[in-house]
Amino acid sequence: MEFLSTRGGDRCAIERALSVGLAADGGLFLPERWPRLDASDFSDCHTTPGIAERLLGEFFAGSTFADSFSELCDQAFTVPTPLHALRDGNTHLLELFHGPSGAFKDVGANFLATMLAFLNRETDRDTTILVATSGDTGSAVATAFHRRPGFKVIILFPDGRVSARQAHLLSCFGDNITSLRVAGSFDDCQAMAKAALADRGLVQRLNMTSANSISLGRLLPQMVYYVESALSFHRATGESLNFVIPSGNLGNALACLLARRIGLPIGSVAISTNANHVLADYVRTGIYQPQATRATIANAMDVGAPSNIERLIHLARDDQSLLADLTSEAVGDEAIRSRIQVFHEQFGEIICPHTATAAELLAHRRAEGDIRSFAIVATAHPAKFADVVEPLLGLTVPVPESLRPWLERPASAQRIDVGLDALKAAISY
Ligand SMILES: *Cc1c(COP(=O)(O)O)cnc(C)c1O
Repeated sequence: MEFLSTRGGDRCAIERALSVGLAADGGLFLPERWPRLDASDFSDCHTTPGIAERLLGEFFAGSTFADSFSELCDQAFTVPTPLHALRDGNTHLLELFHGPSGAFKDVGANFLATMLAFLNRETDRDTTILVATSGDTGSAVATAFHRRPGFKVIILFPDGRVSARQAHLLSCFGDNITSLRVAGSFDDCQAMAKAALADRGLVQRLNMTSANSISLGRLLPQMVYYVESALSFHRATGESLNFVIPSGNLGNALACLLARRIGLPIGSVAISTNANHVLADYVRTGIYQPQATRATIANAMDVGAPSNIERLIHLARDDQSLLADLTSEAVGDEAIRSRIQVFHEQFGEIICPHTATAAELLAHRRAEGDIRSFAIVATAHPAKFADVVEPLLGLTVPVPESLRPWLERPASAQRIDVGLDALKAAISY
């Protein structure tokens, strides 16, 4: 299968689409066609790697990966993503925080790392992955590539604008990972990464690519947990599962819409945002109006110009059904705080501030009388946001086993100024 740019000026095989991230014309890659699969196509698939192989195999058929695809899926899909029923009987948590960095991004990062390592298996040149992060991407990419031969990672994160545990997780790796705290905002970090990736000399010398959320190698694997949870719900009840998904760059929610479009038993999709309400406005009005980013307590969703919206707009132009049964709402910091408390009282569950935006949106639906089964997508472990959650609940959030080894390592990150020159100096270029 070939992959086409949303801007129409680039077309390539999966190998290149995975390695370069962004298309040559500045667009985002999408498959040239979408497979049609329904629940019956998965009747023999009972494990996460098995589901991944069936689903993603459609996109990797005929590629370098095809003969090894089954083993690659075994290596890539090691993070459990359980669907956990809450005590009201019709609300579930799709727990995507059991990976090594405690956020859903581990699933995509691990898949991308597995595929790139396979592609590079016969080259002796190191690849440098440059990643700008608002909090969670950096640690997911770092854990996926840590000590992987042939790879170096450079992380840029905004100093003082991530939680204490996020900062630790971004700075604790050493080895092949370089962590840089930038004296600026996430937008500054992103601009530096863009400038670096546009600098031909730098890119060639370091064999540099990025691993941000527009990467197809992160988007495609995120469909797998939607397919797996929808199939298990469908097997148990015969019904479609509805989802409510916290969104920033729209990578996670888009994967759900794509899984639904392919034909899997997924019903309504509701997208929550924090006070950065660009997506909510787009879904309501059909008009996309990017805005300056606002800082919130759900910082991994602080996005004023969601990068994946270009894919959604492009796909919806040909097929309006993608936007059917899709709603969106923005949730402010105060509502996030009170929802974390109410959710804990109601269900005995501790949720992170991002997940709380989804819980708040669902609470609005419930208040309107919607009693259907919904899965709230839990995007990060609350222990990562202990500084927000613990004072609200007056308790200590236990640190999961998966995060403990990292938090016990010493952490240090060099502080640098905003700008490409400061970045070059820090990496001695
Ligand atoms: C990245 C992130 C999000 C937003 O995901 P997108 O794919 O950018 O929409 C939500 N919650 C958490 C915890 C995240 O790390």
